Amino acid sequence: MRELSDIGEMTQLAQELRRAGKRIGFVPTMGALHAGHLSLLDVAREHCDCVVLSIFLNPTQFNVAADFEKYPQTLEADLALAKDRGADICFLPSTTSMYPRGAEAARAGGGACRVIAGDRSQGLCGAARPGHFDGVVNVVNMLFNVVQPDVAVFGEKDFQQLRVIEQMVQDLHLPVRIVGAPIVRDVDGLALSSRNLRLSTEERYHALFVIKSLRKAQEMVVAGERDVARLIETTRANLELSGGLRIDYVEVVDDKTLTPLEQICDGARMLIAVFSGDVRLIDNVGLSTAAAEI
Ligand code: AMP
Repeated sequence: MRELSDIGEMTQLAQELRRAGKRIGFVPTMGALHAGHLSLLDVAREHCDCVVLSIFLNPTQFNVAADFEKYPQTLEADLALAKDRGADICFLPSTTSMYPRGAEAARAGGGACRVIAGDRSQGLCGAARPGHFDGVVNVVNMLFNVVQPDVAVFGEKDFQQLRVIEQMVQDLHLPVRIVGAPIVRDVDGLALSSRNLRLSTEERYHALFVIKSLRKAQEMVVAGERDVARLIETTRANLELSGGLRIDYVEVVDDKTLTPLEQICDGARMLIAVFSGDVRLIDNVGLSTAAAEI
């Protein structure tokens, strides 16, 4: 696995690969890699000859400074995992090379030229984390320009992010195909997340109520429930049973447009965001009317 941190070198290598007729698959991450990230490398491999992983802890997508400062960083282990899983290139740009005018300049009103997220970024995490999706689309657009991927893979774990990036690619006519990959879970059902490293044993126990509540919502739909207000009310009550979660939102939306639904129909998806201690966790599931295992 080749490690590169220089933007110019990465750009040149991408151009050489493309000239040689190689298809580039790209997996952008913020590091603290786990099996969820690694599964994206496998998906990229299915589509491409050359798999590029990036690790960049992007300051502009954090709206709370403490969340950024406490974000786990495990670079040595990340590099070993990525190499072992068959990544061809690991791109590790520095913050100063990505934001030569400083990260603050890349935020709203900061003065730098930047990309702004479209309307799919409204609501859900966009409502709770002002500026977050602007930071995401801006950095992903920059990384696309450098890595020049044919295909980029994003996890359904960050479901709104996946749709927001698809919208950026459509609206800006970017020549990249976005592929979504399923959520990878721990054996007990907890969606893998770099932030799980910050959970105490008790907070992790509380966090399990998220997947338990999502499963119960799906069972209700399989049993015939179609009323979204009732589903949300029951799910909120199930989350409260943990005795330790602070609910940010529970919503049921159309999985293409992310608009809220009143009745369950094809493509309905429940999304949840909670705090366990001071760790913000998100998860989601499709509310299929047929029994499905999650
Ligand atoms: P992050 O490092 O958290 O920015 O995530 C990088 C990529 O990994 C994003 O596309 C995430 O959606 C994806 N990802 C994170 N956790 C999981 C998971 N448990 N299963 C699948 N993909 C994931």
